[in-house]
Amino acid sequence: MKVLQERIRQEGEILSDTVLKVDSFLNHQVDPMLALEIGREFGRRFRDEQITKVLTIEASGIQFAMATAIDLQVPFVYAKKKKAITQGEQVFSAPVHSFTKGETYQISLARKYLTPGDKVLIVDDFLATGAALVGLADMVEESGAELVGVGCVIEKSFQEGRGLLEERGIRVHSLARIASMSPGQIEFIEEEMYIY
Ligand code: 5GP
Repeated sequence: MKVLQERIRQEGEILSDTVLKVDSFLNHQVDPMLALEIGREFGRRFRDEQITKVLTIEASGIQFAMATAIDLQVPFVYAKKKKAITQGEQVFSAPVHSFTKGETYQISLARKYLTPGDKVLIVDDFLATGAALVGLADMVEESGAELVGVGCVIEKSFQEGRGLLEERGIRVHSLARIASMSPGQIEFIEEEMYIY
């Protein structure tokens, strides 16, 4: 998605060879028009799959899951990073190690929001080590719902996340794929098969 690549080039701060900060438009301050465009693009790619639910994880996935869910006209649900007392015992849960925060937390999701009839599209902001998305995929599997695919806004393709998901036969669509980066330079993988 060219417009996204341009924003990353213009506003992204490359903090190291592995960490990209996009706080000005994606995961602190949010450009809602870009978020809607991202939702439309995921919607276009998964339009024919009869998705019944979009799934993400709080907090940075929420705006993109919502934009995608609006486009596909289905509900979205987000896993919580801390189990609230209001959630009760009927939850799916999975451990997730955070790449950026360096800690492991238990994500949770009420069982009633993911059921065997569902066809699920997972959406998140970043695909890095894949820990968050693997945790979400495990929950979908446990629920008996069908995981149709994963949509990521930014993929750091030099990290292992995509490989881990594809090993499980999961279809992965990322809108900006970073081949390599270091302070001052960034290189994207161009995907010829999509027309933006
Ligand atoms: P993963 O589980 O794939 O390692 O990373 C999942 C989460 O870590 C993402 O949803 C995102 O919130 C955060 N993350 C991973 N890498 C980066 C990065 O380079 N920059 C930012 N801003 N967040 C990242």
